[in-house]
Amino acid sequence: MAYSYDDQNIFARILRGEIPNQTVLESEHALAFRDIHPQAPEHVLVIPKGRYVTFDHFALEASAEEIVDFHRLAGQVCTLMGVQPGAGGLGYRTISNAGEHSAQEVPHYHVHILGGARWGRC
Ligand code: 5GP
Repeated sequence: MAYSYDDQNIFARILRGEIPNQTVLESEHALAFRDIHPQAPEHVLVIPKGRYVTFDHFALEASAEEIVDFHRLAGQVCTLMGVQPGAGGLGYRTISNAGEHSAQEVPHYHVHILGGARWGRC
């Protein structure tokens, strides 16, 4: 796989504790924290603790344990946000930008969970 990971990216620095963050939840392999420039009333980022650059990098190379742990934590974030449609919430949007065409800003895999607003179709 032709990914090289930049250890100085901002999320790597957050994971090392060099930069503060507003943690929402943490697990063995993942961290969820509030986006510094929220694009919705609720805007949480979920990142793996491993050195993955994009969704495809994570999906292809992370261990099953990391993949399950990451998604469980993301699900728990949805519960905390109160946005789960199956539990009476009004829903949310998940986004993961990857590479140049998506204008990915931080080269560490992350999923945005956006809630509290109505989104158009994409
Ligand atoms: P991307 O465009 O890579 O999908 O999104 C990166 C996100 O990271 C942006 O929404 C941006 O606001 C957020 N972000 C960038 N730097 C920081 C930071 O230092 N702390 C936090 N909490 N979020 C950040």
